[in-house]
Amino acid sequence: MTETETPVVGAKHLQWMTATVREVIDETPRVRTLVLDIPDWPGHKAGQHVDVRLTSDDGYQAQRSYSIASAPDAPHVMLTVERLPDGEVSSYLAGDLRAGDQFELRGPIGGYFVWTSALAGPVFLVGGGSGVVPLMAMLRHRATAKSAVPATLLYSSRSEADIIYRDELMHLAGQGDGFTLAHTLTREQPAGWNGLKRRIDRDMLQTVGFAADMQPRIFICGPTPLVEAAARDLRDLGHPPSLIKTERFGPSGK
Ligand SMILES: Cc1cc2nc3c(=O)[nH]c(=O)nc-3n(C[C@H](O)[C@H](O)[C@H](O)COP(=O)(O)OP(=O)(O)OC[C@H]3O[C@@H](n4cnc5c(N)ncnc54)[C@H](O)[C@@H]3O)c2cc1C
Repeated sequence: MTETETPVVGAKHLQWMTATVREVIDETPRVRTLVLDIPDWPGHKAGQHVDVRLTSDDGYQAQRSYSIASAPDAPHVMLTVERLPDGEVSSYLAGDLRAGDQFELRGPIGGYFVWTSALAGPVFLVGGGSGVVPLMAMLRHRATAKSAVPATLLYSSRSEADIIYRDELMHLAGQGDGFTLAHTLTREQPAGWNGLKRRIDRDMLQTVGFAADMQPRIFICGPTPLVEAAARDLRDLGHPPSLIKTERFGPSGK
């Protein structure tokens, strides 16, 4: 959880609930989306996350946070999990788990890293790797709400094969409804790639994003080093800190 987030303590939605896996979707070789049935789900906002708790046969428990990938009005809650090498929880969720399996979760959590279509002004989304997950919930929400708010996603992936939601993002960008998509591929680019091919930097943020005087709402999510560098660069470009919201997924920028 980020420093300014405050869960609603004591609310019904923070009780542990049982999620049943309805479907598992392979997004990339290391990333899977879990489509869930959660009978008591209270609803959520785009950008919120859940806590997942796994319990082994000997009673050992491990708990991690996962962003909600689905739009608030989607029929099922979806999580998208990247399998990390030796990752205790992600290797189970994005590896061994099958349709019909069950696990515990609680949420939705977070009132800070949240976007709703009722908010005015342009939106600039900056994501790295699985950091695209809560940003995708926002874009899905924008699409189903038929919002005309100008939105841009700058999305950093290692290679084309690592792009999560690739086809859906391309489809959304083709709608001509004010959504602009910019990929940057940091390690490997396919033949003929004319797009960006370096880590997100200040020049890229300036070229791809909205000018500071347009006062875009900015959401940055991904590995900690990416998030901190992008937030600093955007502040340097004159964007007010109050409009820059960040979510850090983990310790590594690898
Ligand atoms: C609010 C929030 C939302 C999140 N949403 C998502 C999401 O939607 N999808 C998703 O895949 N993950 C998400 N994460 C990250 C997730 O909570 C776990 O940290 C991640 O799945 C690793 O857990 P693990 O038990 O598999 O790895 P661990 O066993 O905890 O760690 C294994 C190794 O990986 C390193 N590591 C841990 N986390 C990360 C990371 N995120 N990136 C790189 N290296 C890491 C550790 O330092 C260690 O070396 C989110 C985190 C937060 C705080």
